[in-house]
Amino acid sequence: MSVNYDEPDYVTALRDSVRKFVATEMPREKARQWDRDNHWPREVHARLAGLGVFGLTVPEAFGGLGPDIYATMAVIEELAKRSTAIACSYIMGVCYAGMNLVESGSEAQRAELLPRLARGDLMFAYGLSEPNVGGDLASVESSARIEGGDVVIDGAKRWCTGSHIADYIFCLLRSGAKDEKYRNLSVVLVPPQSPGVTITPLGHLGIRGVETKDVTFDGVRVPLANVLGGPDKWGHGWSQLAGRALEVEKLELSACALGIATAAVEDATAYAQERVQFGRKISAHQAIRHSIAEMRTKVQAMRHMLYHAAWLADQGRPCSVETSMSKLFCCEMAAEVTQAAMRVAGAYGLSDQFDFERYTRDAISLPIVGGSSNMQKNNIANRLRLET
Ligand SMILES: Cc1cc2nc3c(=O)[nH]c(=O)nc-3n(C[C@H](O)[C@H](O)[C@H](O)COP(=O)(O)OP(=O)(O)OC[C@H]3O[C@@H](n4cnc5c(N)ncnc54)[C@H](O)[C@@H]3O)c2cc1C
Repeated sequence: MSVNYDEPDYVTALRDSVRKFVATEMPREKARQWDRDNHWPREVHARLAGLGVFGLTVPEAFGGLGPDIYATMAVIEELAKRSTAIACSYIMGVCYAGMNLVESGSEAQRAELLPRLARGDLMFAYGLSEPNVGGDLASVESSARIEGGDVVIDGAKRWCTGSHIADYIFCLLRSGAKDEKYRNLSVVLVPPQSPGVTITPLGHLGIRGVETKDVTFDGVRVPLANVLGGPDKWGHGWSQLAGRALEVEKLELSACALGIATAAVEDATAYAQERVQFGRKISAHQAIRHSIAEMRTKVQAMRHMLYHAAWLADQGRPCSVETSMSKLFCCEMAAEVTQAAMRVAGAYGLSDQFDFERYTRDAISLPIVGGSSNMQKNNIANRLRLET
């Protein structure tokens, strides 16, 4: 048996260059401002492309460096340590667009779109959730029909993060009778500027910067060529959605969780060694020492779960259970760690002059979005084939 826990050298080098980028282009004060103003810094996203990191899910034949899930997660982790605004738009390009196009795009879609993505010029927003549809995605009500060589779309998507800045909304649509739940679904790529698309704001706690929106479709027409995988894949939406890309999808939020939790524990450690109460640094009080030790232990466990699952994915091995475990554990732990870090800083943990409250707002949403913790437990239990 051979087990190697060392990160590959090229990933460590990649982390270093992302860390330098974060230090110069994403200083702490700016990250706070983006969160406060709910602002997405387009120019920072564009400069990030200069590092070549947008090609990590794109095969070399299409101008990329990948696919390399492990390295992609390392980049997400480093970006999320400072700002979920930039981490989320990176995910919209490299993961939402990249993994889905590589997995399910037609030859024409791959040839046209993947080189753009590798240059940092392409982003997809996910149009899955709807006002009446959360975890039960196969029940989507928004509809698509073929008419005169076009696809015509009606309905509404909710929580469509970044739909206003994306090039395409990756829409899961009902494209036939409702009686067969998992059939008659299609994925269609809808440009958000198409006539009949209306995008309106949706206020929420945390993960600000790349705003989350309501999107309605009123007789929106797109070419039949925009069906993911081409016209032949009409009606195959569920198998495209529930394929390999969705398994790996769970790791993106795990990587965000790890980044946020790491930043929180690092800040708490620094704070505890500066703040003096009762004549001693608070890091000398046992309660604070134990809290930091617990946080560090949780973060270490998160790191192992995430990168083990990413490694399995890169080997092309089955990883549905491991990716669900990683999503469940990392997102729950991030919510715990950020709140513990906030308490180490006492009242200053609640102040907008520090980042503890931002980390907490970001982390608290992670067990809810992208397949809730309950849904991950269902996946894991189903794979265990527990009797029902
Ligand atoms: C900030 C933010 C960004 C988002 N971005 C996007 C996006 O870009 N694209 C997109 O499509 N969606 C997005 N979402 C939606 C998000 O993915 C959904 O919130 C999530 O899928 C869960 O749906 P729901 O909240 O409607 O919960 P529901 O599915 O209504 O569930 C409500 C509660 O019931 C539980 N529950 C439901 N079914 C079961 C079951 N079978 N077993 C056990 N428990 C169950 C859930 O765990 C949850 O606790 C975003 C949401 C937020 C808040």
